[in-house]
Amino acid sequence: MNAKRPLIAVLTGAGISTDSGIPDYRGPQGLWQQDPSAQRMVTIGPYLADPEVRRRAWVMRGEAGALAAEPNAGHRALVDLERSGLPVRVLTQNVDGLHRRSGLPARKVLELHGTATEVQCVGCRVTGPMAEALARVGAGEPDPACRECGGILRPRTVMFGEALDPVVLQQADAIAKACDLFIAVGTSLQVYPVAALPQIALEAGARLVVVNGEPTPFDEAADEVIREPISKALPELVRRLVAEGA
Ligand code: ZN
Repeated sequence: MNAKRPLIAVLTGAGISTDSGIPDYRGPQGLWQQDPSAQRMVTIGPYLADPEVRRRAWVMRGEAGALAAEPNAGHRALVDLERSGLPVRVLTQNVDGLHRRSGLPARKVLELHGTATEVQCVGCRVTGPMAEALARVGAGEPDPACRECGGILRPRTVMFGEALDPVVLQQADAIAKACDLFIAVGTSLQVYPVAALPQIALEAGARLVVVNGEPTPFDEAADEVIREPISKALPELVRRLVAEGA
């Protein structure tokens, strides 16, 4: 192996969090595809325009219970990988905050779609904990407004109808270019611009490992494809990488 320690980029999608009880809302069978009225709650135009959409969205966030979800063996495996001393960057499409909750340092996690663990005011841009906003909903405020300016509060996620943060995307591109090994976990690799990341890594000469229950467009180009359940497959893969020094 190289004298230089290899950089490992891990891209994670909804599949890594299903064992934590968080459904794949965005996937082909997900709620957002099946129910157009539910999709309005996560689409920026209707969310900003219609107070009734926001009231329903707050009820849904309270019921979803995502804040109570716990990291699973898949998340913990990536913590083990990072603690082994190998340089690791995690790029995630998930907004559940479970990579940080599991103990990965925040500077090693890039949340491509933002985080549902925080809210942001669309007026003055101030941010705060989602848990605090949900507590206000529970206490009888159906559509809690920003306490600073009265503006609309929204989750700090990329909603439908919005583009990914160009700065975050640029950082993700740079990591994909620089890595020696790119591992895609629990993501269909079908939605751009995120689906371009493994292509960037391959073109830069990285090895590609795909861990996903369903086939992806990158399976043929991958050096290895693992189909087993993620919370079983990822700990095994990590043990192997740590033993080999990746
Ligand atoms: Zn505000």
